[in-house]
Amino acid sequence: SLLSNVIAPHEIGVTFDDIGALECVKDTLKELIITPLKRPELFSKGQLLKPAKGILLFGPPGTGKTMLAKAVATESGASFMNVSMSSIASKWFGEGEKYVKAIFSLASKLSPAVIFLDEVDSMLGKRQNREEPETTRRMKNEFMVNWEGLLTKDDERVVVLAATNRPYDLDEAVIRRLPRRLMVNLPNAPNRERILKLILSKEALAEDVSLESVASMTDGYSGSDLKNLCVTAAGRPIHDLLEREQKEKSLAIIEGRPEPALLTADDIR
Ligand code: ATP
Repeated sequence: SLLSNVIAPHEIGVTFDDIGALECVKDTLKELIITPLKRPELFSKGQLLKPAKGILLFGPPGTGKTMLAKAVATESGASFMNVSMSSIASKWFGEGEKYVKAIFSLASKLSPAVIFLDEVDSMLGKRQNREEPETTRRMKNEFMVNWEGLLTKDDERVVVLAATNRPYDLDEAVIRRLPRRLMVNLPNAPNRERILKLILSKEALAEDVSLESVASMTDGYSGSDLKNLCVTAAGRPIHDLLEREQKEKSLAIIEGRPEPALLTADDIR
């Protein structure tokens, strides 16, 4: 089950081209993560310039943080290791430490690799006055020790990308290890239009659909909200078709005609 969270670079299936808007974030990730992973030799001169080892992506839910992390791995030819901090504790009860150790040692074997920590706040957040079980504390500690090890090895092509919706809940020690923080914000109207265009690029649209006007009506929607909107809209013609079918059937019964044949995909409009 450790391996089920690891995806080889050519199997990730998300590139920067699949992500609408967020151009500044993409450019920064290119500079800070992709180039160092692909061309480490460029960073071998001098003492000041070191490849970034950890980046925090923060912003509202559904804005594309997971997509960005996957795309970074694809674009760098790196393996993608998805570590859901909230599930480790429950799934690996009592063995969290072993799991954490395994993640880091596998990452270094697979190198280049991207370790993605989703919901990093849920595992590595402030303690918030609640008692922490000993096993969780030890696991957290193990994580920090391994992470620290990564930071001190300049030639190790492993980076940690962490994502959170609640950056203010993060532990100080975590913040320190993520010196670069990128905000992944909700899209404005022109960016919503770009995202809609991308999501709908392979769909047949009715002629009177204006993505510009949809974009102007969806203030506050995240990329994920826009995707859901499109999925719902895509189901609408089938809903209409079933309704027509039902009407025609009822009419046939009333008029004593034989039941009409079912409609087909060609009848969808
Ligand atoms: P969460 O914080 O809830 O984990 P997230 O920020 O990681 O969310 P993703 O999981 O990357 O968000 O996005 C969810 C889905 O929304 C994606 O699979 C994609 O379909 C769509 N989506 C989000 N942002 C974009 C975008 N900028 N361009 C295209 N699709 C997007």
